[in-house]
Amino acid sequence: MKLSHLSYFKTGGTCEALYAPASLSELQAALHKLRREHTPYFVLGGGTNSLVSDEHWQGAVLSLHRMTTIQHVDELVTCQAGLANNSFVEYCQAHSLTGAEWMTALPGQMGATVRMNARCYGGEISALVHQVTAVTADGEVQVYARPREIFRGYKDTLFMRNSEIVAAVTLQLRPGDKGAIAARMAEVADARVHQGQFLHPSCGCVFKNDYEVGVPSGVLLDQAGVRQFSRKHVFISPQHANFIFNVGGSSEEIVALSFKMRDAVYRQFSVWLQYEMEFLGNFPPTLQREINRVKPHDLHNRALLELRRTWNSNA
Ligand SMILES: Cc1cc2nc3c(=O)[nH]c(=O)nc-3n(C[C@H](O)[C@H](O)[C@H](O)COP(=O)(O)OP(=O)(O)OC[C@H]3O[C@@H](n4cnc5c(N)ncnc54)[C@H](O)[C@@H]3O)c2cc1C
Repeated sequence: MKLSHLSYFKTGGTCEALYAPASLSELQAALHKLRREHTPYFVLGGGTNSLVSDEHWQGAVLSLHRMTTIQHVDELVTCQAGLANNSFVEYCQAHSLTGAEWMTALPGQMGATVRMNARCYGGEISALVHQVTAVTADGEVQVYARPREIFRGYKDTLFMRNSEIVAAVTLQLRPGDKGAIAARMAEVADARVHQGQFLHPSCGCVFKNDYEVGVPSGVLLDQAGVRQFSRKHVFISPQHANFIFNVGGSSEEIVALSFKMRDAVYRQFSVWLQYEMEFLGNFPPTLQREINRVKPHDLHNRALLELRRTWNSNA
């Protein structure tokens, strides 16, 4: 089974088996089978924040794209994890429910969006989540009724640490005006298109921001001149230096470019960027070591202090 069809970057090798459960019980059954057979697995949502290795994966992939039901009672909307973010927003608009407009055109699925604590255009998923149903590797169901247990801050959640799979999520919306909701949705979608985000396959931002640093990672990358590392098939967006576009390249080329970007920022500003992009599958040990490498920041770096001053005075 080719994984490049399922990854938003359009890269990735093959896997032994693909499971596409359509319900919580099918997901549990798949996990029971994988556990019985000692088969390693990883989960793929929309693949919009992930880089899948070019190597063959000697295991299974769980794709949640068939888990897409959605329903609501008053202002509480419950959906399965595989529902596309944008379908969720459209459902809310159709039922005059407001609060999710910032998620318009946010690529990916609701389960991963909870796992990543996705945020943009003034919103963050943590602010909407009311309850999450997750499944452990043993297929056991866990219900989280207190979002505080899940969300640990900027792009940090319990599910990044415990590897449970989000199966369903209930979100708290508010009554709203259909026309006003549609207008805000159009604004957000236009902003994304205007920023050229959908010109080519990508994973959104490759690196997280670090609020201690005080300058967005995209600005650090831009100022470090990383576009010089662009190649024909794998290149950096002209509009956003934290976006890598792929047009026919491989995952290995994408990783190699990301290393050059990270090194360039470190050389110039002594800031070691952390990946936001998730790595799925088997990467060769030399690449994996480099992916995991950590270096200390020097927040007193002179070039960084200067950039921060300019950035703050322009902000
Ligand atoms: C053009 C573009 C723009 C973007 N803009 C933004 C933005 O503004 N803000 C932002 O926050 N993100 C942004 N992203 C990133 C992405 O949209 C979000 O992170 C999204 O929530 C990822 O969803 P996904 O289903 O594609 O995740 P995937 O890439 O499939 O998975 C991400 C991780 O979650 C795991 N996972 C997948 N499903 C589940 C599940 N149900 N339970 C537990 N773990 C799971 C995967 O194993 C992987 O580790 C952007 C991406 C693109 C391509």
